[in-house]
Amino acid sequence: MHPVLEALIALNDLDVMIQELQSPDYREIGFDVEDQIFKLEKARAEIIKKIPEEVLKKYEKLKKKYKRGIAPVIGGVCMNCFSLLPIAMTSEADRNEKLSTCPNCGIFIYWV
Ligand SMILES: [Zn+2]
Repeated sequence: MHPVLEALIALNDLDVMIQELQSPDYREIGFDVEDQIFKLEKARAEIIKKIPEEVLKKYEKLKKKYKRGIAPVIGGVCMNCFSLLPIAMTSEADRNEKLSTCPNCGIFIYWV
């Protein structure tokens, strides 16, 4: 897998966790949210180093729009916008060896 793609997937996982921790449910059960978020932010800072600036900028823009910057493709379908990707894209053998975006919604995609 392309190292930047791998970093984007990890970054997205962290961002999802951070977003979940910021929900009021966690505060109610007395969970130490601040400490957890601090640790996740630290891990996030490490991952960001592996991502080129223009890719990160695009990711942040996508995250604002869709609440995530990267989405898996399952059965040839983008899991962000649920559109079917062109066969030419889904049949490539090295599809996870480069950065690709969904032609419909523009989100970064990876194949599972
Ligand atoms: Zn899409």
